[in-house]
Amino acid sequence: MRAFRYHRPADVADAVALLGAEPQAAYLGGGTNLVDLMKLGVQRPDVLVDLTRLPLDTVEELPDGGLRIGATVRNSDLAAHPAVRRDYPVLARALLAAASGQLRNMATTGGNLLQRTRCVYFQDTGKACNKREPGSGCAARHGQNRDLAVLDWSEQCVATHPSDLAVALTALDAVVQVHETDGPRDIPITALYRSPGTHPERETTMARGTLITAVRLPPLPAARRSTYLKVRDRASFAFAAGSVAAVLDLDGDLVRDVRLAYGAVAHRPWRAYRAEQELRGHPFSPALAARAADAELAEARPLRHNGFKLPLTRAITVRALTELAAS
Ligand SMILES: Cc1cc2nc3c(=O)[nH]c(=O)nc-3n(C[C@H](O)[C@H](O)[C@H](O)COP(=O)(O)OP(=O)(O)OC[C@H]3O[C@@H](n4cnc5c(N)ncnc54)[C@H](O)[C@@H]3O)c2cc1C
Ligand code: SF4
Repeated sequence: MRAFRYHRPADVADAVALLGAEPQAAYLGGGTNLVDLMKLGVQRPDVLVDLTRLPLDTVEELPDGGLRIGATVRNSDLAAHPAVRRDYPVLARALLAAASGQLRNMATTGGNLLQRTRCVYFQDTGKACNKREPGSGCAARHGQNRDLAVLDWSEQCVATHPSDLAVALTALDAVVQVHETDGPRDIPITALYRSPGTHPERETTMARGTLITAVRLPPLPAARRSTYLKVRDRASFAFAAGSVAAVLDLDGDLVRDVRLAYGAVAHRPWRAYRAEQELRGHPFSPALAARAADAELAEARPLRHNGFKLPLTRAITVRALTELAAS
């Protein structure tokens, strides 16, 4: 690992100013992704700006019934928070389905959202990767691409976003609160992540140096009936082969409202608007859920090794919604 300097900023403005002044600086949350990538030589910051002493580590219940989650709240604390467990079970389940207990004790909310792809070629500095080194090519496009995207990929990049938390937050219409050099700004999470297009190295719509300070959840009483299903190669300590975050609001058997988001299918957490549209206003049945998933996945373009993701995503959509309908 290369030598680097370490800074502990006095406050949010100081952190943002430090990033502005140092072109190779990076924020440090729990370090569970960044430090690994530094050891591999994939990221080479010369200054780390440690966020973990900033006062961003609380979960606050808002007067409107929503929740504000500080950027340095640890994943394990968030999963255990009584308001999260009561009002947004999809969030608690997504967090508990991720990584391991030790990692969740370190990982922060902001760091989780901005963790980098697990594409194995991205992590291997000996391989071509447009995301790591723009213009070098994409070794995954015709390589081993079992874990990669089926929707919205480009010839330049077929990576997926790895975060389970981001999928749950996408279903919940969370708002990401950020601080830039000219002050604070709110970004709906559905507008935070980019498609890979011709610039897969640009992963979000935030400018370099932007600090995530918090995530705000709008009040959503229907989310009390919500869940997260994740399929992976082993029971724990593994990224998703497919996942779904689901919220279901029924009036009798009629679908009054529904929120769905998919993980492991695209460069960003995938909000399944088309599936939601198929479901809303109709009597719920597993067959309807299957049709809705098929409508969402109609434009999928599986790669050589990942066609299994389509029936898998369909099956977990049906299962998640059927379980919610019966609960
Ligand atoms: C073996 C293993 C298994 C895993 N399994 C899963 C899994 O199944 N599901 C899952 O979702 N995750 C999984 N993870 C990933 C883990 O959840 C992430 O590493 C973790 O959430 C990152 O959080 P962090 O605080 O440690 O981020 P860091 O490593 O500190 O930072 C990650 C990135 O975010 C930036 N950053 C951090 N905080 C902020 C902020 N507030 N504002 C702006 N930028 C910021 C950093 O500069 C860096 O680029 C796994 C990790 C490992 C090592
Ligand atoms: S899929 Fe994306 S991250 Fe993976 S090698 Fe290709 S460009 Fe790099």
